Amino acid sequence: MTTVYDYIVVGAGSSGAALAARLSEDSDSSVLLLEAGPDYASTEATPHDLRYAHRVSVVDHDWNFTANATPDREVSYPRGRVMGGSSSVNGTLAIRGTPDDFNEWASLGNEGWGWEDCLPFFQRLEHDLDASGDFHGKRGPLPIVRWQPHEMRPLSEAFLDVCQLQGFPYAEDFNDPEATGISPMAQNRDRDTRISTAIAYLEPIRHRLNLTIRGGCLVNRVLVEDRKATGVEVDCEGELQKVQGRTVILSAGAIMSPAILVRSGIGAKEDVDMVGAKLVSELPGVGRNLIDHPLCSVVWQSKPGISVLPDPPVQAMLRYTSNGGETNDMQLYMVNHFPGREGNFALLAILQRPKSRGRLHFETEDYRAQPRIDLNFFSDESDVRRLREGLQLAQQIGEHPSISQYADGLAAPSAEVLADNEALDTYIQENGSHNFHPVGTAKMGQATDPEAVVDSQCRVHGVQGLRVVDASIMPEIVRANTNLTCIMIGERVSELMRQER
Ligand SMILES: Cc1cc2nc3c(=O)[nH]c(=O)nc-3n(C[C@H](O)[C@H](O)[C@H](O)COP(=O)(O)OP(=O)(O)OC[C@H]3O[C@@H](n4cnc5c(N)ncnc54)[C@H](O)[C@@H]3O)c2cc1C
Repeated sequence: MTTVYDYIVVGAGSSGAALAARLSEDSDSSVLLLEAGPDYASTEATPHDLRYAHRVSVVDHDWNFTANATPDREVSYPRGRVMGGSSSVNGTLAIRGTPDDFNEWASLGNEGWGWEDCLPFFQRLEHDLDASGDFHGKRGPLPIVRWQPHEMRPLSEAFLDVCQLQGFPYAEDFNDPEATGISPMAQNRDRDTRISTAIAYLEPIRHRLNLTIRGGCLVNRVLVEDRKATGVEVDCEGELQKVQGRTVILSAGAIMSPAILVRSGIGAKEDVDMVGAKLVSELPGVGRNLIDHPLCSVVWQSKPGISVLPDPPVQAMLRYTSNGGETNDMQLYMVNHFPGREGNFALLAILQRPKSRGRLHFETEDYRAQPRIDLNFFSDESDVRRLREGLQLAQQIGEHPSISQYADGLAAPSAEVLADNEALDTYIQENGSHNFHPVGTAKMGQATDPEAVVDSQCRVHGVQGLRVVDASIMPEIVRANTNLTCIMIGERVSELMRQER
């Protein structure tokens, strides 16, 4: 007898693990969760690089992708390849998108995604150990903590002080919808342990008989008959197998979910032809609208003993509004030391509302290969201008005696470059990078929008029984690090699906 699962979830990352956990709360439903990376079934069995909250893991459990930041410059583009996905390797900075972000999604025709609709799911995912009140949850799987004054390293403490001296308000809690200014960083960790979705959502429910969790399973494509998804084709330990499901949910992240769609015949016709698939639903938006947060940094050489491991790299963040920009369209972090590199500290300026858009290119039918990633950063003049002004603000903050007492001079860019707008724009073009936050490549929108891939229930347009639930569906990037929003998406869609039953 062939097993037919009610739900097959592809990818156990931030969204997929949360979604699979919630779907399997209904003991009458059978859920199969397929993950390409390894599965560590308990916190104790989890390797150190995944457990240690204060350093990102970008080698041992990574897809080893590269991306073009600009047409002629390649950068590495880490994504987590392990149970928990990128939530298992990330920086654990736990910040929600702003109310304006979600209200914008709703205004684009995505009913049910305004701030009031999303807030209950941000509350449901967390137990915040510091902040209380109307906006917070106390019973969710993810612990949220903030750095306390006695834990602050000298550079973090000086950064908090100098930002206030420069007139930025102090915000106790960045997850308050009104918050702006300088704040101790909120993180999803338990002391020094990164709490990924594998640990928060999956570890406590592994006993469920209706939930099958499988690592080492690389999904090639969705099986589709008469425009209805019937299962997936998956490489398990080198053997390609088929598994049947009534509903297939792609949660493979903003790079791989679109790639699976195209190999399944769903996408722009030329892309589907290129990978040798048969066209099922022509959706030209698949792999387009790629958005990430561009960043650039001012780096100082630090005095001996200041930028040392294992100090946490980031303990405080400034959220501010650029000249003429939208609220909170910029972030500035103090990085006490670059991971793995002692002797430097930096202020990182990060654009939260970039206008430039990139895309994915699908050039091979090989399901083990990455799509070509073209971030197309700095193609918009106002993106470059806001980052330039961000770097100049960073220099001004860094030169305050409270901070400069820890420095042995600028490392990069030079003071001459920082003083010359044209030279600084060139510096940004040549050195700017990303913040590990790809979104938007299977965006949510109405069928009348030619670039929309899923509807407001995350159902793929033109194909029954198939959804995309992960960072890909964001029509616009949020003004925040993306992990909490991805988990919220998993939570939100589980509720939409529960209401359908
Ligand atoms: C190094 C790094 C640091 C970051 N730091 C932060 C931070 O501090 N704060 C923050 O908010 N955000 C951070 N982010 C971003 C955040 O983690 C991501 O936005 C979020 O995890 C994305 O969630 P997702 O569910 O869309 O994808 P992912 O969490 O990436 O999950 C996708 C999953 O699908 C699996 N998969 C892919 N293809 C297949 C396939 N064909 N078959 C089977 N499985 C497949 C992957 O292995 C992965 O487990 C960081 C990301 C990285 C990589």
